[in-house]
Amino acid sequence: MNYWTPELLAPAGSLDKLKVAVNYGANAVYLGGQKFGLRSAAENFTVEQIKEGVEYAHGKGALVYVVLNSFFHDKDFDGLHEFIVYLDEVGVDAVIVSDPGVIEYISQNTKLEIHLSTQASCLNVEAAKMWKKLGVTRIVLGREVTIKDAGKIKKEADIEIEMFVHGSMCMAFSGNCVISNYTQGRDSNRGGCAHSCRFEYKLEGADMEAKNSFFMSSKDLEGIRVLQEFIDAGIDSLKVEGRMKSYLYAGTISKVYSEALDYYREHGNFLSDDLGRWEAELNKVTHRAYTEASLINPAGADTIYSDREHEIKEYAATGAVLEAVEGKFLLVEVKSAFNVGDQLEVLPFKGPSVSFNIDFIKNVLGENIERSNPGSIVKIPFVPGIDGNNLLRRKVIQ
Ligand code: SF4
Repeated sequence: MNYWTPELLAPAGSLDKLKVAVNYGANAVYLGGQKFGLRSAAENFTVEQIKEGVEYAHGKGALVYVVLNSFFHDKDFDGLHEFIVYLDEVGVDAVIVSDPGVIEYISQNTKLEIHLSTQASCLNVEAAKMWKKLGVTRIVLGREVTIKDAGKIKKEADIEIEMFVHGSMCMAFSGNCVISNYTQGRDSNRGGCAHSCRFEYKLEGADMEAKNSFFMSSKDLEGIRVLQEFIDAGIDSLKVEGRMKSYLYAGTISKVYSEALDYYREHGNFLSDDLGRWEAELNKVTHRAYTEASLINPAGADTIYSDREHEIKEYAATGAVLEAVEGKFLLVEVKSAFNVGDQLEVLPFKGPSVSFNIDFIKNVLGENIERSNPGSIVKIPFVPGIDGNNLLRRKVIQ
């Protein structure tokens, strides 16, 4: 059988991350150019890289969406015309927009498909119908909407619906946060969010003892256990947050959710023995404690990550396999240094990770070395079942 599943949409914070996400099973990726998005601190794509990313993704059957989801002041329109015409020319599959003026401008000047960003906080059927009339073909709902209500919006407004399935959360209604404006002088709604909600604040009140707390810092979203609900509601696309996260994150999250959706396509359920492994893999990426936030019921105080300031980090990327030479060696691009005697893990495109020992490291001249340096290309022991572009990682806490 081939049961229907939603699209898996992964973040592409850079060209490297785009390739990793697509190789590990994402059906579509979203990325930002140098302007007009909400992640001004991310690496972001040059126009040439957007073209290369589109060609790479399309070559693997994946789609590319470009974010233009800043809230525009008049001067922010400078350069928009040239940029959207370029996106149309290079075959970008859709743009993700928040501002009604920008939606109108793109509709009038290009044939680009327009998705409404979560920043526009669409939460109900009437709003969805209104955006549809403006030319929007898909709505990324506000994160405050439950899956059940999202299914109703899809049915009654008759429009494609995208929802977040994994990643960091805002404590504020998306598109309505000004904490960074006041704490850092940076405009959250034009790409300047400084994650001020993650800071420690002092709570004081007339009838309480003053205390320091991370009371506005949300846990991270994890929707692996409610994939069936997304499918039952007919949600078209499942989005992973995290353009500013590592390429190990892009690969791991794409791998886990695509494996789960592949399983469903074949079996029509998620009753897989691999569910525990998928959850364990999600715990291996850097994250805060997980929550299902508002996917089933509206989020409450239990979704606040008040105990710790820092994210949980168990594994770090060590490199990527460039080539696997059967029975001889893996040719590896090193991201972080490792030594002879270390134990690494390799992440195949499908199935469990494989641990192995670094019995030797050779440089490209074939000389034995004791330590690999970041940015270098080295040979390490061959591991059966490993392909080019597989990621390597190392445990960083015991
Ligand atoms: S400060 Fe926090 S709540 Fe506000 S936009 Fe940034 S991440 Fe979201």
